[in-house]
Amino acid sequence: MPDAHADSWIRDAASQFGDRYGILTFAGENVRRRLSPSALERLERTTTRREPLDPRIADEIATAMKDWAIENGCTHYCHWFQPLTGSTAEKHDSFLSIDSNGQPITEFSGNQLIQAEPDASSFPSGGIRDTWEARGYTAWDPTSPAFIVRNGGERTLCIPTCFVSWTGESLDQKTPLLRSDEAISKQAMRVLRLFGNSDGVDHVTTTLGIEQEYFLINEDLAAMRADIILCGRTIMGADSPKGHQLDDHYFGAIPRDVQAYMADVEARLFELGIPAKTRHNEVAPRQFELAPLFERSNLASDHQMLTMSVLQKVARLHGLRCLIHEKPFKGINGTGKHNNWAISTDTGHNLLSPGKAGQSNLQFLTFVCAVVRALDLHADILRASVANAGNDHRLGANEAPPAILSIYTGEELGRVLENLATGETSDFRADSSMDLGTAAVPKLQRHSGDRNRTSPFAFIGNRFEFRAVGGTASVAWPNAVLNTIITESIDWIVTEIEKHIDGNGSVEAAAIDILGGVMRDHHRVIFNGDNYNTEWHEEAARRGLPILRGTADALPALRNDSVREMFNTYGVMSPTEVDARVDVLFETYVHTMGIEARTMLQMAETMVLPAATRYQTDLATAISTTEAAGVNCPASGGRLHDLVEHVTELEAALTEIRTTLEYTGESCDAHARAVQDRLVPAMDNARAHCDAIESTVPADLWPMPTYTDLLFGGE
Ligand code: ADP
Ligand code: MG
Repeated sequence: MPDAHADSWIRDAASQFGDRYGILTFAGENVRRRLSPSALERLERTTTRREPLDPRIADEIATAMKDWAIENGCTHYCHWFQPLTGSTAEKHDSFLSIDSNGQPITEFSGNQLIQAEPDASSFPSGGIRDTWEARGYTAWDPTSPAFIVRNGGERTLCIPTCFVSWTGESLDQKTPLLRSDEAISKQAMRVLRLFGNSDGVDHVTTTLGIEQEYFLINEDLAAMRADIILCGRTIMGADSPKGHQLDDHYFGAIPRDVQAYMADVEARLFELGIPAKTRHNEVAPRQFELAPLFERSNLASDHQMLTMSVLQKVARLHGLRCLIHEKPFKGINGTGKHNNWAISTDTGHNLLSPGKAGQSNLQFLTFVCAVVRALDLHADILRASVANAGNDHRLGANEAPPAILSIYTGEELGRVLENLATGETSDFRADSSMDLGTAAVPKLQRHSGDRNRTSPFAFIGNRFEFRAVGGTASVAWPNAVLNTIITESIDWIVTEIEKHIDGNGSVEAAAIDILGGVMRDHHRVIFNGDNYNTEWHEEAARRGLPILRGTADALPALRNDSVREMFNTYGVMSPTEVDARVDVLFETYVHTMGIEARTMLQMAETMVLPAATRYQTDLATAISTTEAAGVNCPASGGRLHDLVEHVTELEAALTEIRTTLEYTGESCDAHARAVQDRLVPAMDNARAHCDAIESTVPADLWPMPTYTDLLFGGE
């Protein structure tokens, strides 16, 4: 029986998407009805076929874009870019101009659309630019639609751009990602040609679906803690008696305040053409997740930056604070981004789909083997690509996923790859069905491999899920690295196969030969067990896989000449660009930890120690008056003793923090090393004493919201 309510609800929802979806983007109808057919055709050639933009149509596009923006309430436009700060940047200009009669008019030219010149001196450049060398350019990326950002009542046209220095080096996240996507396309096209599947395919692109986890806490409570305000995480805080022991939060009913928030977030994402799809409670209390439909990597990456910003902005409107830091709370799960990655032709064929059998399967296996080889050869730089201060709490600690990069293939693909190594061929079995033994319930489709939640890099049917990316990270950089290392492996494999064909004539035979060799050489990177298990860590060490726990351990891999050379060979980054980026990553780590350490000093000195002193005085008074009354109170004496001990040790740890903060290394690498080896342990130590003091000081003397307040008080 048709359910009238559900039916009308679905109709409403669909029309809601239709009306609102992409309404604030210069794409689809918004473009089509404003451009002449010839301009439209030439623009589409750029957006879909990556042909260089014909500069003669720039003026027409600029005018159409301006008219559209003004009709939608914009007075200003900006080139929106992603400097190496980790966030986005924008400098607004109004459309105002004065004509020759002195009259105000609106104006936006093709030149203003294509290029702008923000001051580059105050953005991180890793030494490429000195402060007095200010010039930098932003260049329009026509493949990512311009959009309108609402900020209160104000609306601004944002034009996605690349950001480069006057000397031509990229100073942003987007440029290397775009270059790496083109690099992988070139090599992947060779594979398609090799197997006779390139007809009608113009290029190949990587696709990304990024699942974003986040915490939502009460804004008034958050505002009472300097660590949350300044660092986006708690740097002290005793465990709440309740964590996620009961697993009652994961996929639980979404709290009402959060549901309203999620709906608001989604409405804004839809307006921006961001295809938000999935929402649910995550494992930890007050932890949630949002996942969009996957898109071309460049677009997905821009959209991810916008998603983080929308999540945070909308939270404030709901009296909430959204935390995307990798580890906002000790003792419960941290926050990551699951980076779902695949390669697809421009005609929409996913090259990581196993296909049926035979040739298409061999092509699929070529790509899979390229991934295996790339991860084995370059696990260290892929690990480096997700290194930051926040992620050290996840990757280096007992938490998902570990710092060791291995691949989960699942049983079925694992068997096929093993057979390849031994010279047998076998087809990847299609999915089978599973009968639940009760007639009323339809049969389930069983996937050809189980899921493994503990692996940092898992094959899941038609894509790889890279789970080590941090909650705050821009996904552009890890994916630029991922694309580059896989490009290098595809290049190597195709070149080897081509050489072999010359010898024996058969593509298949040559491919099986070469892929078998790849599997024999690189199978050590495959691990299908439990990645949390400490035995795996020992096993990984035996296999010689790199175990790089902290940022200072991980980043140096990017300094290797062979790595700089690889980025250069595939046109992703010049050695200067790589060096600059690594400098920025080291500096960011040092600065982040410096801020956290100073915040800790401030909170310890102005909140924890004064509270401890008050309690110490209370206890001492209680003890002396009790004993004066002739009653012994050894328990209170013990408490006082313990408290004084924690205070003494906390003071010592704070001194160590202060001393370490004064140190400036000879290089940013050395400085980061000192931070990881001295500052971090001192902070851990100080925290342990702060948390112990918190656990004993009377609640009415404790000067900040506790974990229980933050994680459970808001509900
Ligand atoms: P789970 O949490 O079970 O891993 P989700 O549904 O939360 O799954 O997220 C899966 C993500 O993978 C979505 O963003 C989805 O769009 C993305 N995805 C699916 N297919 C591809 C693909 N071919 N390329 C990139 N991402 C993909
Ligand atoms: Mg998910």
